[in-house]
Amino acid sequence: MMNLKEKVCIIGSGNWGSAIAKIVGENTERHSDVFEKEVTMWVYEELVQGEKLTEIINRQHENVKYLPGIRLPDHIVAIPELTRAAAGASLLIFVVPHQFVKGLCDQLRPMIESLQQRTIPIRAISLIKGMSENARGISLISDVIRQTLNIDVSVLSGANIANEVAAEQFCETTIGYRVLDHGMLFQKLFHTHYFNVSIIEDTTGVELCGALKNVVAIAAGFSDGLEYGSNTKAAILRIGLMEMMRLCRLFDPHVKWETFLESCGIADIITTCYAGRNRKCAEAYARTGKPFDVLEKELLNGQKLQGVLTAHEVYGFLESHHAVEQFPLFRNVYRICYEGVKPQELLKGL
Ligand code: NAD
Repeated sequence: MMNLKEKVCIIGSGNWGSAIAKIVGENTERHSDVFEKEVTMWVYEELVQGEKLTEIINRQHENVKYLPGIRLPDHIVAIPELTRAAAGASLLIFVVPHQFVKGLCDQLRPMIESLQQRTIPIRAISLIKGMSENARGISLISDVIRQTLNIDVSVLSGANIANEVAAEQFCETTIGYRVLDHGMLFQKLFHTHYFNVSIIEDTTGVELCGALKNVVAIAAGFSDGLEYGSNTKAAILRIGLMEMMRLCRLFDPHVKWETFLESCGIADIITTCYAGRNRKCAEAYARTGKPFDVLEKELLNGQKLQGVLTAHEVYGFLESHHAVEQFPLFRNVYRICYEGVKPQELLKGL
């Protein structure tokens, strides 16, 4: 008899990818009427103390490099070949640093094209916070996946520091959907008593919030590194949120105002500007003046810094819309990161 259960593949296995593997593995077991229990996880293979990371994960059920100390369900299977990991999957979860997503989709495309006539269609969700730069400005990562693979893509974003989620500290997150059934299916896959998932019909708003707040976090980190006080940081958060809202509407007038009140909006700005890797590296930059690529290596243990890249992508978009001067915070962050302007200029013109 034909098996009609949804089969899940997680593409990525960093800090967030591993925390999500824990949740998804718990839920495929809990909702075994809907999902196949076994979940494959594509791992970018690397050696950790001389041993392959995939072999360590499959033996110890722990990602010792990116999420140490957290046990993953035994039925999460780490696989180093992308097409083998995704073979047979009907639900693809993309959770890699955004600069790698296009190359991965190009690798997947021939296989997905050959499977379009399946009984269960393939759908994807992107948990990636970032955007892609192209000749016409910027593209959403979900659009890159959608256009390369010709499948529906939902997005998930929220105030979710991976280590806290993995420790089962309560938080909320937001799924943006285009197809309600897909939004509800992914809600079932991700929702737990400690990871509270709401859904909204606004993929663009949810995704842009997740990317843009990393630029605000860079500003918050500069502020901390310069030892400015709480009032200044609150002003940076407020101005940052306003610039995010304006940019979202400039990108797509259909973005909903309610989206900014979801976890992906206001809550994620707060958490990212007080914790998180972008704030941390920007604080160190303001204190030491070391280049960001050096700080990324020194402070992040293989994790990727996203906000500095996003600041570049945002600036390109604003330039192409002749709107740079309407976004003084985004402008100043870009100039500090890329044009040698001193962090002390952060507040100029706000
Ligand atoms: P990470 O930054 O912890 O780890 C980097 C990952 O990239 C590792 O799995 C590494 O193996 C992989 N990698 C390195 N070189 C690669 C290459 N050439 N090709 C493909 N992969 C390569 O990753 P993460 O924290 O899981 O972040 C993934 C996405 O999730 C990002 O967009 C991030 O913004 C987002 N996110 C992260 C968190 C968090 O708290 N960590 C929370 C929410 C969203």
